[in-house]
Amino acid sequence: MVRVVVVGGGVNGVGSALAIQRRHPQCQVKVVAKSFTPHTTGDGAAGLWEPYLSANTPDDKVIQWSRDTFNLYSDWYRDGEGKARGVSLVHGTGLHNIQQPTPAWHTIPIGYINLSSEQRALYGPQYKSGHRFTTYTAEPSKFLPTLLEEVKTRGGRLEERSISSLEEAADDADLLINCSGLGARDLVPDPSVFPCRGQVMRVRAPWVTQFLIDDSEESFAYIIPNQESVVLGGTHQDNNWNLEVDPEDTQTIWNNCTSILPSLKSAQVVREWVGLRPCRSKGVRLEADELKLFNRTVPVIHNYGHGGCGVSMFWGCSQEVASIASRLIHRHHGPLSKL
Ligand SMILES: Cc1cc2nc3c(=O)[nH]c(=O)nc-3n(C[C@H](O)[C@H](O)[C@H](O)COP(=O)(O)OP(=O)(O)OC[C@H]3O[C@@H](n4cnc5c(N)ncnc54)[C@H](O)[C@@H]3O)c2cc1C
Repeated sequence: MVRVVVVGGGVNGVGSALAIQRRHPQCQVKVVAKSFTPHTTGDGAAGLWEPYLSANTPDDKVIQWSRDTFNLYSDWYRDGEGKARGVSLVHGTGLHNIQQPTPAWHTIPIGYINLSSEQRALYGPQYKSGHRFTTYTAEPSKFLPTLLEEVKTRGGRLEERSISSLEEAADDADLLINCSGLGARDLVPDPSVFPCRGQVMRVRAPWVTQFLIDDSEESFAYIIPNQESVVLGGTHQDNNWNLEVDPEDTQTIWNNCTSILPSLKSAQVVREWVGLRPCRSKGVRLEADELKLFNRTVPVIHNYGHGGCGVSMFWGCSQEVASIASRLIHRHHGPLSKL
């Protein structure tokens, strides 16, 4: 029996645990985390599938991981599980006040187009480029509990506790998976991991059915419909650890969003929330490593640093974790058929 310990209960930890269980039902999987849903970073995110703020992650990896994740959401949607898993099909527009190149991932969502100058002019003369496509919103607060349930049904154990080193979690592990998000800054330690603070509001505005994003520095705003509320954002403040709602940010979000979509002025605010995107200046780290303990060496797979697009990439990353795990298990414990 190979004992796998996953550190992290966010989308990447739970996704990795499940991907390994599905591929290797013989493994005994345990997930150790300070917090599980509804208290992880993804739980407050709108969950728009759009690989965003993934700086310095190679394009081919962004494409591979985000395509696999898009396909997962398509499967859920097509199988009629959209409501239960918080997955909705959504059409919308992104605007920039500078020329932006077409992103490498543009072939994945449905019907991606660059806006013509006439189409951009509808929103104001300041926009120099823009795009429109159909994608999914996948709300982790709804799908994470369903994935966790499957992890448990497959025999996985959950342990809610804080660890102060990876060694502490590796004590009873034959293989360690590190999906600790921002925690990797201290646990690895990896000083290239930093927070990018995101504050959002949730409002009741059922008439808003399309997403609208103004990516300009001065008027940054996003409006993303979820199933029960519409998410208004936001901020992206690097190296800001403040988890409290900042009234000044609230005012800026409200002003920018109502300026680009005035009908929001009559929307009722239902919640405000702050999350810290687990960014990494070198991009996502997904690779094998080793941890030297007192009397043995434990193989480790790191999977952290997903910044502003963990919900858009987690399932592809989890599949890659499972593939690396297969190789490591084979190397350290012999052919998988013997497990
Ligand atoms: C405002 C906002 C909006 C966003 N919107 C989107 C969006 O629309 N689309 C999108 O794709 N992404 C979005 N994101 C980004 C996305 O939410 C993250 O990339 C993703 O949730 C990261 O998941 P994770 O599992 O890697 O990390 P996390 O969810 O942060 O999980 C880390 C886990 O590690 C555990 N941990 C850490 N340190 C320790 C320790 N010492 N001991 C024990 N456990 C530990 C934590 O408790 C937690 O369980 C948004 C983020 C924010 C903040």
